[in-house]
Amino acid sequence: MTFPLKSRFAPSPTGLIHFGNVRTALFNALLSRKFGGTFLLRIEDTDAARSREEYTLALQEDLRWLGLLWQEGDGVGGDLGPYRQSGRVSIYEEHLKTLEAQDRVYPCFCSAIELEVSRKIQAQSGQPPRYGGKCAHLKPDEIENKKNQGLPYTLRFRMPKKESVEFFDLVRGRQSFPTDEIGDFIIRRSDGTFAFFYVNALDDALMQVTHVLRGEDHLTNTPRQIAILNAFGLPIPQYGHISLIVDGMGAPLSKRSGSLSVQELREIGYFPIAVDNYLARLGHNYAENSLMDLDALAASFSPDNLGRAPARYDRTQLDHWQALALQKTDAAIIAQWIAPQVSSWVPEADLMNFTEAVRDNLLFPHDARIWAEAVYSATLPLSPDAIAMIEETPVDFFREASTLLTPELDFKAFAQRVREKTGAQGKKLFMPLRAALTGQTHGPEMPRVLPLIGYERARHRLLAHVLNEDID
Ligand code: GLU
Repeated sequence: MTFPLKSRFAPSPTGLIHFGNVRTALFNALLSRKFGGTFLLRIEDTDAARSREEYTLALQEDLRWLGLLWQEGDGVGGDLGPYRQSGRVSIYEEHLKTLEAQDRVYPCFCSAIELEVSRKIQAQSGQPPRYGGKCAHLKPDEIENKKNQGLPYTLRFRMPKKESVEFFDLVRGRQSFPTDEIGDFIIRRSDGTFAFFYVNALDDALMQVTHVLRGEDHLTNTPRQIAILNAFGLPIPQYGHISLIVDGMGAPLSKRSGSLSVQELREIGYFPIAVDNYLARLGHNYAENSLMDLDALAASFSPDNLGRAPARYDRTQLDHWQALALQKTDAAIIAQWIAPQVSSWVPEADLMNFTEAVRDNLLFPHDARIWAEAVYSATLPLSPDAIAMIEETPVDFFREASTLLTPELDFKAFAQRVREKTGAQGKKLFMPLRAALTGQTHGPEMPRVLPLIGYERARHRLLAHVLNEDID
């Protein structure tokens, strides 16, 4: 590894960030954290029509929420800014002069239709689409003439001929791209805006980025970027192209396949460390299966463990990490987490005991509502399974149970008395009691729940099935 290592995340703020891009941020953050390097945030807002300040702020909030703090870049500063591409146009123009002086760029006056026709001809003869080079050798007076006529033109970068661009990809190994298959490409559009290849490559070099982990959709951009940096004599970062994320059907991850924005994950109640642990394993192999903090995730992170096959998004796996994160969370914190959802049911004095009783039955704060209702509701809603269970139990069972309930509310002792009196055992003993007392056939441990339900309410709930009327 090159030291000091500097990795970066370079999002375009054209929407809320989703799983795919935040995983890219995570891998870059873990890489710099592992080597005590710098993680940089650059905002690629060259698409003025689609970029929005609110998305920039939202993505920064998302990164901070996930604990992916950057030491240099937009929002925190540094010596090599500005860190938004919209503020770097003069830098891009200035550097263009170097390429012009070396005749590495030329104006291209070809119209969109001409280019389209040429692409079609290439496709028909089985050639890769690339610029045919029509404007590559215009004479200075021809150029002057066309400019004077007011013809719009782009600027093309002269790709070296009959060579190949070679590099070692941190994920995909040795790569080789023949320059003739790439052809001369546009680095400045006719409206004066700069193309991705140019600004992205230049910024990485000028910001002294040493490592770039990014989506494999950028792999074919890399030889162009390397050629540009070679023309400047600027250092070339080490690139690693990570596999894309696909859904259960193998299709690219999309909103429809259940991918959520980081903001949505936060609103549902996912813990950031659960999301980090899931994402870190999405396309990266870890030997450890336990929940790890960011330092531990960074210590075991290695580009060598990044897979080349597409990574499959699976919400149940994400939920698995959520459950592990919840297990590790203090009850007092869980109590605060669920309080807004349950405060209309749970008396404040009961909140800690309630939390201890239900914590293993939660994944998200809103899950606590069903248990708050199951414990405190005056008109207990019964699930269909609970109704079926109650219906198949003799009415006498509940009559006996109601008389055997005593105010000390020791569930084990209570169930023992019901067993002795009615002869019911195992499932036939515990399930009707749970169904009648909580309205559910599964849920938190009854010894914890019964004291919260309280003697009066519990007795009413048992008697409801004897009198066959609703409790009120
Ligand atoms: N702005 C580009 C994107 O969001 C950055 C690509 C890169 O990481 O180099 O795709």
